[in-house]
Amino acid sequence: MSDIRVEIDKNSGFCPGVVTAIRKAEEVLDAEGSLYCLGDIVHNSNEVERLKAKGLITITHDDLKRLHNVKVLLRAHGEPPSTYRIAAENDIEIIDATCPVVLKLQQRIKKTHDNEKDTQIVIYGKIGHAEVNGLVGQSEGEAIVVEKPEDVAKIDFAHDIVLFSQTTKSLEGLKTIENEIRSRKPDGRFECHDTICRQVANRMPRMRRFATEHELVLFVSGKESSNGMILFNECRKENPNTFMIHSETDIDETLVRKAASIGICGATSTPSWLMNNVKQKVEQILEKE
Ligand code: SF4
Repeated sequence: MSDIRVEIDKNSGFCPGVVTAIRKAEEVLDAEGSLYCLGDIVHNSNEVERLKAKGLITITHDDLKRLHNVKVLLRAHGEPPSTYRIAAENDIEIIDATCPVVLKLQQRIKKTHDNEKDTQIVIYGKIGHAEVNGLVGQSEGEAIVVEKPEDVAKIDFAHDIVLFSQTTKSLEGLKTIENEIRSRKPDGRFECHDTICRQVANRMPRMRRFATEHELVLFVSGKESSNGMILFNECRKENPNTFMIHSETDIDETLVRKAASIGICGATSTPSWLMNNVKQKVEQILEKE
């Protein structure tokens, strides 16, 4: 038996929003054997495959328009009002798993849009990301999305500006966008609302510490996960010997054999069972030595 330390980060894995969405899906699947889900339930293909085997059918927004009299789950990222309209028109029953944190942000954006017609709403987030599409929908498509500092050139600085953030962005990134807007708008109203989810923000310092505690870090995540990319980059800054893998089949055995301690961590969309599989595989490699 090898005495090399192999540890799973206890702060990694599904956030409460994802846990609830999967629980809601499994409740229907256990009772009825099938359920539609609008978009991947979680940005992790391994978990999507597991639920597919239980009867979860992932559909697109175009598919939704063609369906009638079925149940459709809306995932934690939330949806724009147009999705609810289509569902009502097609007699679709919605199982709404929008995360309460996202829901609250949607409501704040809608309120700003409805009450302050001349205010320019700006969202710091990833263009085209499902959550961002749901947020922009609250402003009837009028909010401007900025991904990077150069994007603030799209804003008309003559208006009052209110900035919100996609829930999974980094605090550092939001601060950079805030400073960029402030430097171009020395006067007039500008509000920055930190709407980053603490499930993500609070994980960062803990995960940075975890990354420094191990010689090799295996970061388990789907490449579709924006939260995964952020956390991975943070780990890598602390420990350059950090590698992203999608499952145990991606493990580089040579790296594992060279390390004196191995840390396994992941995104808010990484299932615990997958991190456990990685741990078992690492232990098998070490035992073969
Ligand atoms: S990261 Fe936060 S906001 Fe996003 S689904 Fe999870 S708990 Fe909700």
